[in-house]
Formats: sequence, C-alpha cells, structure tokens
Amino acid sequence: MGISKQSIEDLKKRSKISDFVLSTTTGKLRGTKGMALCPFHGEKTASMSFTDVENLFHCFGCKMGGDIYKYVQEINNLEFQDAVELVAEKYGFKLTYTETSQTNDFKNFQQKINLIDEYFKEMMDSEKSKKAKEYLTSRKFNEQDLKRYDISFIDSNVEDFQKFCDKNKISDFDLKKLGFISSNDNFLFKNRIMFPILNFRSETIAYGGRALEDFGPKYLNSSDSVLYKKNRNLYFTKEFISSVKKKGYVFLVEGYFDVLSLNQLGYSNSASPSGTALTIQQLEAVSRYTNKILLCFDNDEAGLKATERVLEIKNQVSNQLEIHCLNLPEKYKDISELYEDNEGSIYVSADKNGIYKLSFKYCFKGTYCHINSAVHLL
Ligand SMILES: [Zn+2]
Repeated sequence: MGISKQSIEDLKKRSKISDFVLSTTTGKLRGTKGMALCPFHGEKTASMSFTDVENLFHCFGCKMGGDIYKYVQEINNLEFQDAVELVAEKYGFKLTYTETSQTNDFKNFQQKINLIDEYFKEMMDSEKSKKAKEYLTSRKFNEQDLKRYDISFIDSNVEDFQKFCDKNKISDFDLKKLGFISSNDNFLFKNRIMFPILNFRSETIAYGGRALEDFGPKYLNSSDSVLYKKNRNLYFTKEFISSVKKKGYVFLVEGYFDVLSLNQLGYSNSASPSGTALTIQQLEAVSRYTNKILLCFDNDEAGLKATERVLEIKNQVSNQLEIHCLNLPEKYKDISELYEDNEGSIYVSADKNGIYKLSFKYCFKGTYCHINSAVHLL
C-alpha cells in the first residue's frame, strides 16, 4: 500500500521543515526562513538555507537540497514512504493510503528477492554445494553457522535458475532491477557462495558472491538496484543492530569473512563496506546507531590506505565520530585469519579514558599467549 498523493501534499502544507532542521542540526529561524549548519557535508559556518513557506532546503556548500520529505529521508536514511510516515507521526496527521504506488513496487521486488533467496538456500542444502561447504569448513564455518548467517549458494547451472524464475514470474527485467544482471546483460552469479546483504530492517536486498573457482573476480557484488545502493549499504548479519545497541560501538572491517569471524567471536556489531571503499553515506548510516567506531582493516598497504581514507572523510559526517584504530598482531593479515588460526579469543575493552583496546588470547605451542593490540585514536 502506498500513501495517496493528495495526503502527501496535505501533510506538506501542515508541516514545517524548520521543526526537522532545528532538531537535527544547529541553525536559526527568522520568521519563516533560516540558515543552518549543513548536516550532509559537515561545516563550521552555516550554508544551508531552509524555508517553511515552501518547505524546502538547499545547501550552498554541497548542493544538497529538496523538500521536507527529502530532508527527513536523507537525515534518517529512510525510503520515501517511511519519511512521509515519520513526518505524519510528528504532527499526528492521519495519512490515506492507496493500492498502487512505488512502495508497492518496492514490496514486489522485496518479495521476488526473498523467493530467490529461498532458491539459493535450497541450493546450499543440496548435494551441489559440496565444494562450497568444504571451502567454508576450511574457514571454520559449520552447517549451523551457515544457517545462522543465511549463507547460501548458486551453482553454475544458470538454466535451472532461469526455470525457477520463469515458474515464479520473475522476469529478466526484474532480475535487472534487482541487480542480478550486469549492464552488459550477463547474469552475475555463477558457482558462488552467496552472502546476503541486508538493509537496516534486516531484509535481504543484495548479495556478495565469493567465487569457488578461478573464474571472474574472487568477490562480486550485486549491481545497484531498486533495493540496494552500493555506496549506502554495508554488509552485516541480522544480529548487527541489537549488538551495536548492546555494545555501544561498531567494528568496521574489510571483508565478508572478517564480519563473520567477528560474529563467531561474539562481536555481531561488525560491518563491512563489502569490498568497496568506505563512503561518507555508509559512515552516516552507521552513525545513526553509534558514534563510536573501531576500525580494523587489513594489515597491509590497502588496509592502511582505507584507514587513511576514513580520516579524510570522518569530518564530513554530520555526527561527530570517535574513531579508534585497532592494529592486529603482525602475523595476521586480517581478523578472519586470526579467527581461523586460533584456538583463542579476542576481547575488546575500554580503559578509564574510554580508549578501546583489543586483546588476543591464543594458543602457541600448547601455551596461551596474550597480546594487547596497539590502539590509537584517530
Ligand atoms: Zn551541505
């Protein structure tokens, strides 16, 4: 069900963008117009104007602009309908709904990807996933773990998949809209372990696929789609949000296996930009849940670069972030290697100054060793 156009317009007339601007950033309203610090690019002098007459905002710095719904959408990382509902809630406005809408479209696509997800899971439960399971076992993930993290599989028989889609009325057009088909019309995933990428409502919206053979790139992500935007979404498991709320910080790591390894070690508050460089929008999304971030990128040149990049963009995020950088012991390339190699465990704790530290306990030649990682605050 979608919200009727009329009701969206009526609500706009009854609401004031200043109510949302002034509760999310610093600014001043003079009469019906105002200026505020732009929450979308981070700044010290106000360059975002807003007006209650037309309910519009515009930033002269980063050029972000739009109406009240756009503002609420961007600041809360919401879909359009959710933003309208949030505005309505604030004013106790009763929205009217219609049957057909863009939201219906979203739900439609969500249902289709859920069906496809079932197919991938069945494939994982079948004989065909033997090699995939062997590989995952070699990385210390057993059957139960695969279920817990909804890890699935697609074999190389694209015809079977096509038949399944035909039967379920999922067209090539749908597959394209859902990011399964590349811009040059190829089906993206063949013979790959599939990691579901979730939105913040824990719905599957895309996949990261890990190749089982030396064919194509080792990791491949869904293309941007109606449900998924590479530069906004992150990879995490369905326990992510509750874990972040409990622990009060987020672990940011590089890859799928790093996220899963941390889950195994008791840290479901882990997320990864899934193979791409971390973006401001991703940091922005994370910062709605916590401003404390523990970075633990790979122990190599690329990891160092990624860390430096976070330094560059962290001030452009609207919330002030507290970023801690955790260095792994030299012998480990990344968290997943530490998990695989180890009979031990990791502990994250904060000292009396609130600086986090990571301790590793691991078994070396029969004795338990303890290392505290070098930590610095960025
Ligand atoms: Zn701006």
